Amino acid sequence: MKYKVLDLKCDTCGKTIKGQSEIYYDYTIDQDKNVIMELICDSCFDKWVKSWDIKELEVTDTVPHLGQTNYKVTFVDGREEYGYYRTIGGRRTSFADAPEEFDDRIYEHIQKWKQKIASEEYQAAQRKLISDIRFNDNQDIPMLDFVTKGNLRMDGVKYRVTAKGDILVDSTAEVPAFVLEQIPEHWEKFKQGIA
Ligand SMILES: [Zn+2]
Repeated sequence: MKYKVLDLKCDTCGKTIKGQSEIYYDYTIDQDKNVIMELICDSCFDKWVKSWDIKELEVTDTVPHLGQTNYKVTFVDGREEYGYYRTIGGRRTSFADAPEEFDDRIYEHIQKWKQKIASEEYQAAQRKLISDIRFNDNQDIPMLDFVTKGNLRMDGVKYRVTAKGDILVDSTAEVPAFVLEQIPEHWEKFKQGIA
C-alpha cells in the first residue's frame, strides 16, 4: 500500500503546519461556487488575535432599546475604528471579522465603563444633597442657611410660610433647583421637630 501525503501549509506565512490535531481555517467561495479553504498556522492565528488588542476604548453613545453600545476603539498597533457591541442570542458580537477574544474584551471594557459612569452619577447626586440646613424663624424676616455635601453654601436665604404651612423660598435668592426641591422635606422635619 502506498500513501499519499497532504502537505498542510499556512496560507498566510507559507510554513508547513505539523503535528496539530486541529487547524484553523477560513474559506471563501469563488464565482464557480467552489469553496476555497485557507489554512492558518498557530502563530499567524495568534498574530491575528493580537492585532485586535485594545489600547483604548471610548464609548461614544448607547442605543438602549437595542442593547447596543457604540464606541471608538484604538488598537495597540495604532489603528482606530468605530464599532458597536451587542449581545445577540446570548452571544457577544462586535465586528463581523473580529475574533471572539475581542468580543470578550470589548464586553469587559464596556462593563468597566458602565460601572464608572454609575459611580460618577452616584457621586454627582450625592454632592447635590443638603448636608445641613438651618431655619431661623425667630426674626422679622425668616431666613435659612444651607450647605450641600459638595460644599455649596448659602446663608441668609429669605423664605416665608404660606397659610397652609408650606415653605416658599425667595426666588430672587437664586437657590439652585436641585436644592430647592429638597427644602420642603427638610422644612417638614423642622416643623415636626419644633411641634
Ligand atoms: Zn502562518
